[in-house]
Amino acid sequence: MCTNHAVAKSLQTRLANDPMLVLNRMASQNGSVNLGLGFPNFAPPNHIVQALSEAATGNNHMLHHYTRPYGHPRLVNILANVYSKLLSITLDPSDHILTTIGAFQGLSSICQSIIYPGDEVILLEPFYSPYKNMLEMRGAVPVYVPLRPYDDGSGQSSANWVFDKKELESAVTDKTKAIFLNTPMNPLGKVFNKEELLEISDLCVKHNLLCVADEVYEWLIYDRKQHVRIASFPNMWQRTITLGSAGKSFSVTGWKVGWCIGPKHLIQVLQNYHFSAIRTSPTLTQEAVAVALEKELPILYTPESYFQTLSKEMEGKRNRLCKYLDNAGFKAIIPDGGYYIVADISNILPRSQENRDISEEATDYRFAKWAVTEKKLCVLPMSIFYSEAHRYLCEKYVRICFVKTDDTLEKAKEILDEWSDS
Ligand code: PMP
Repeated sequence: MCTNHAVAKSLQTRLANDPMLVLNRMASQNGSVNLGLGFPNFAPPNHIVQALSEAATGNNHMLHHYTRPYGHPRLVNILANVYSKLLSITLDPSDHILTTIGAFQGLSSICQSIIYPGDEVILLEPFYSPYKNMLEMRGAVPVYVPLRPYDDGSGQSSANWVFDKKELESAVTDKTKAIFLNTPMNPLGKVFNKEELLEISDLCVKHNLLCVADEVYEWLIYDRKQHVRIASFPNMWQRTITLGSAGKSFSVTGWKVGWCIGPKHLIQVLQNYHFSAIRTSPTLTQEAVAVALEKELPILYTPESYFQTLSKEMEGKRNRLCKYLDNAGFKAIIPDGGYYIVADISNILPRSQENRDISEEATDYRFAKWAVTEKKLCVLPMSIFYSEAHRYLCEKYVRICFVKTDDTLEKAKEILDEWSDS
């Protein structure tokens, strides 16, 4: 069997039993409150919807046609302005940016064009699960380094999950090509601090590694924490590709507008791949995102900015859901950023596992199936964000999405209140 066939077969088996797909199917069949799905169920801001509507109905009919393959000119121009400011580097819209069909396609294109078969790529666990499939489809080898929680007595926080510097360094071999860094992190909500990023950047420089900085949750930061961009560290610009997503930043996940930002020698490889495999991303949504970013740039970091309004609102939702979860016996790990809360289920496991089956399924997966069936609440098992070898580290956790309407959160509260009463 040729490699491609083997990969396709293994993907087929894996996806047929994929816990996320199984749980979401179960949830939609029995009408569960779904906090497993990782996207908002509320409306985007009016101004971006308006921009799309004007792009679609205005006089410029060219917005209904193909645009520049490497990125719609209006969008790459404003992205260059925004990220020049954020990275303190003067970006060239033609050479340093590629717009993609969501950050997902950017990641996939990086794996297909810059990563090679046999390359080793370091993933920090828990990792955004598509990384693994994308790398394996390319014949590359994910190498896993887990974050572990320490208790400094200040309660459970995503900041307390850390990597061991020596363990990270010893994961590097002469085959290591890259490290994928996701900050803020899905699922944990960890926002890597300057010291941690410095350790990662030192490693990248020392071993000549590429850094894929997946920063799609860059504006979803809580408690006045700071999102630090590794591309702005000394000697990192030339070896970093930063990914962003309008889906996350403007709450329009269905528009699938993303971007890759980096030095010319890396972006050019991506542009060539994109031209050959994807060609052009949709024009209308790129135009509308450009208009929204033009509005955002002069008010970045002010209370008028949508990015600030959104993160403030999400912080409130995070706090409420953490409280509801804690009242029901979960132990929420408070995220500093992102869309998700990881919660420890140890205290409620015995009750949920009364009719435990004898399958080989991970404890957290059995719990999630039980929760969706018995409690009509859908959450995701943490084990889907870990390698097999490190599954023992995560079986007492689940991931819960809080980027939901107040109505959905109240429905979850009712379930959790009833849960704690029983
Ligand atoms: N990276 C991470 C960490 C994500 O969580 C997601 C979406 N869930 C993506 C990338 C993909 O982003 P997009 O929707 O823009 O394709």
